[in-house]
Amino acid sequence: METEVKLFLELLEETKSAAAFTGAGISTESGIPDYRSPGTGMWEKMDQSVVSLSGFLRNPENYYSYAMESYPVRAAAEPNAGHYALARLEERGWLKGVITQNVDGLHTKAGSENVFELHGSVRRVVCLQCREYYPMEDVMSRVFEGENPPLCSRCEGILKPDAVFFGEALPEEPWEKSIDLVSNSEALIVMGSSLLVAPASGLPRLALSKGAALVIINLMETPFDDEADIVIRRKIGEFFEETGI
Ligand SMILES: [Zn+2]
Repeated sequence: METEVKLFLELLEETKSAAAFTGAGISTESGIPDYRSPGTGMWEKMDQSVVSLSGFLRNPENYYSYAMESYPVRAAAEPNAGHYALARLEERGWLKGVITQNVDGLHTKAGSENVFELHGSVRRVVCLQCREYYPMEDVMSRVFEGENPPLCSRCEGILKPDAVFFGEALPEEPWEKSIDLVSNSEALIVMGSSLLVAPASGLPRLALSKGAALVIINLMETPFDDEADIVIRRKIGEFFEETGI
């Protein structure tokens, strides 16, 4: 067994109380583009105003027209070995929860239960007037039938994907719960995040200040590599297939 796999498993077994923090890099192997990767970036291909709050409020039809192209890809995406490994570690009692910057809902789809979505989820839609939630699947089937923009069935308010758009604040509750989780964990496993953007970059700092172990699994360098206990520069799905978790 490769040394880094062995070290990683030993650390998990020893702490038995880890938290995971995931970014776009965990979902690229599921076919969801990382919007920061040059050339393949999702946002490079579209007008950013479509996913800004002001642009959306001005013209929600625009967003749903774009979603008619992007939604089928997202809806068909399946979790990979990385997502499934986290779900199994939680089941085993070694992982207390997953904090994610992703809006793709793949952790929940893989079976993880304690998931904090810092940027919300595109699998849900919320009415901006009465706060009723709807599954994106149902709303998109109405859009495909020609209802654009789709409106709330209760109050005819505007329906917005429950993901954080540009110009919108992060929801407080998942962030506060994430801080609690990291404060009470003996290890933080960062997966597929470059840790460059606040406030998420504060989580490894918090873990280190509490004396927790830090593991970073990411293809590119991060500002925390020197302070981490284990750094694994590999594709997440490939790495977890080798761990046998
Ligand atoms: Zn409503």
